[in-house]
Amino acid sequence: MDRSDVTAFVALGANLGDAAQSLRGALKALDEVPGVRVVRASSLYRTAPVESTGPDYLNAVAEVSTSLIAPALLDALLAIEQQAGRERPYRNAPRTLDLDLLLYGGARIDSPRLTVPHPRMWARAFVLVPLREIAPERVSHAAMQAVHGQHTELCAACR
Ligand code: ADP
Ligand code: MG
Repeated sequence: MDRSDVTAFVALGANLGDAAQSLRGALKALDEVPGVRVVRASSLYRTAPVESTGPDYLNAVAEVSTSLIAPALLDALLAIEQQAGRERPYRNAPRTLDLDLLLYGGARIDSPRLTVPHPRMWARAFVLVPLREIAPERVSHAAMQAVHGQHTELCAACR
């Protein structure tokens, strides 16, 4: 890792089509972006839709090491979503692939198109459970308590 590289965390979610395949494909695509390396990825988790509809979601979180600035990393995430056939017919619609930037080093960003840390991550077990698997020091016990009512299970069939 280059000294100037930043450690960032990306949340992956999908609930249309072959969701497991979408997430695996997204991890590969992410690792292939120039200036981005996937350092580790969580297991895949199955969760009921939160503020959304349709089939269960599969979710995961990846740690990446990147030389890209945060807006460029977001562009790369959105491009991978596009390649996966992402459509946005309405807010929180079911999706083939959703990639969200959770954390970018210790940065706080509040621009019209990018908010980091991701504003809703602390309310979502489907983000915190996989994040905790790969980066336990980033998720406090209190943060887990706040989402303990939300059901998230390891996808046994996905291994
Ligand atoms: P959501 O992920 O909330 O369901 P979308 O995936 O449709 O919604 O994203 C809508 C917009 O959210 C994106 O076009 C992007 O510009 C913006 N956005 C703001 N902050 C972030 C972030 N941290 N990660 C990903 N997208 C973000
Ligand atoms: Mg998104």
